[in-house]
Amino acid sequence: MRFLRRLLGRGEERPAGGEEAFEPVCPHVTLVARWDSADDIGKPEKVSSFICESCQTSFSREEGEQLQATEAERVRSLEAGRPGSQ
Ligand SMILES: [Zn+2]
Repeated sequence: MRFLRRLLGRGEERPAGGEEAFEPVCPHVTLVARWDSADDIGKPEKVSSFICESCQTSFSREEGEQLQATEAERVRSLEAGRPGSQ
């Protein structure tokens, strides 16, 4: 569980100093699709970019799709390997 918490970037104790250079790693699990044209909204093949709601990083459609694909795998493996379900 400690690993998952670190993945989500929550509950971390920051060292004193408050330097903004240190940023927790964002897993980019809250990708929001963006469309350039209003007519294309809702069409997966017309997505122009993705924005991560957590860290506001923007990704191309290909990058976003890759992130979503690998994120699903990562979450699945995390849940499959979760101990204590006896
Ligand atoms: Zn992010």
